[in-house]
Amino acid sequence: MPMSESFQQRLFPNLEKIASHYGTPFHIYDEAGIRETGETLKKAFSGIDGFREYFAVKALPNLRILELCRDLGFGFDCSSIPELIMSRQVGGRGDDIMFTSNNTAPEEFEAAAAEGGCILNLDDISLIPKVPKFPEMICFRYNPGPRRTGNVIIGHPEEAKYGVSHDQIVDAYRQAMARGAKRFGLHTMVASNERDYTYIVQTAVMLLELVEMIGRELDIRFEFVNIGGGLGIPYRPEDKGLDLTSMAREITALFNSFKAKNGYAPKMYMESGRFITGPHGALVTTAINHKDIYRKYIGVDACMSSLMRPALYGAYHHISVPNKENLPKSEVYDVVGSLCENNDKFAVQRELPPIAEGDLVVMHDTGAHGHAMGFQYNGRLRPKELMLRTDGSVELIRRAETVEDYLATQNFQADKIKI
Ligand SMILES: *Cc1c(COP(=O)(O)O)cnc(C)c1O
Repeated sequence: MPMSESFQQRLFPNLEKIASHYGTPFHIYDEAGIRETGETLKKAFSGIDGFREYFAVKALPNLRILELCRDLGFGFDCSSIPELIMSRQVGGRGDDIMFTSNNTAPEEFEAAAAEGGCILNLDDISLIPKVPKFPEMICFRYNPGPRRTGNVIIGHPEEAKYGVSHDQIVDAYRQAMARGAKRFGLHTMVASNERDYTYIVQTAVMLLELVEMIGRELDIRFEFVNIGGGLGIPYRPEDKGLDLTSMAREITALFNSFKAKNGYAPKMYMESGRFITGPHGALVTTAINHKDIYRKYIGVDACMSSLMRPALYGAYHHISVPNKENLPKSEVYDVVGSLCENNDKFAVQRELPPIAEGDLVVMHDTGAHGHAMGFQYNGRLRPKELMLRTDGSVELIRRAETVEDYLATQNFQADKIKI
């Protein structure tokens, strides 16, 4: 089921009130749902010593959300300087932060090392000499190449720009040791929105085999393996959710047999974004226009600047019209934004109840890679974000962008040089 049922039950009866106070469009997130999913994940993996989720900040980079993650005991998965700064702003220090950049710039290494540092996850063997102060703890991102066929979104690892190749991986740790590394981690990220849990179990198998192999070659032990993110959520009503229980049971068994065989086991880290917050967010819009040409269109007051996934990947986001829930889905609409791009459509040929101007139209499952992916093309600005708190209050956690924000990067004293 898209969008948690309990979120829907708490949100929809209050939606008119929230919308009339704050104005649409907005994304709204469910604190209770995020906390519950976080606790469920921790409980599922409680059989693995030192299990930790590093929330993928890029999925929902909002300080209030990162505070929730901190309260849950999560670390932070960052891949840019602003993400590092945000994670530190909510208290992340040292091993609380994993920095997984790619095509890394010198100033990013500096930012990673600043303020107590973080776990540095290097994307390539060529970066080893470029790290200014080589940390004691080092991790590499592994790209299995043709050893794994990618999942649908990520595609084939062989074609992916990320990570260290199989043939270079032992050498990468050898060179890191030569630069003084003493603590080791191994990371990969080979799935995206994967609901087949066995694929993720296979990733754990792959990493544990690799840890054995590298450990043997170099006589080292690994402190952790990070199986990446990419746990899927059901976007369509007919989609089945990821079987977290079976996944955790099978992965826990793998770690237990590793321990029996090797006399120790690394800790397991994970860096989910979508799975933690995706179903606990919704984009609330108002229908402002309808037109009837070759197709029927409903124009809402948000556009792809608020939610890129449908335009970018043809992704499905379920749509509800809360005040028409009891009516049959007798109409077929394209639900569109106002951008001058024909792919600015939240839904294409979707069966929906008859929608009138003024109706609230809700896109489900926008809690991850929703607002975060927004952009300003065509002068269409990003909307506000709200949080439905566990005490039943609603809080503005990011204001909407303004024209002043949009122009801020152009309004300054001219900086000219003569050439
Ligand atoms: C995007 C990303 C994630 C999170 O992906 P989800 O699909 O949201 O779980 C984790 N790790 C890395 C390196 C990423 O780039």
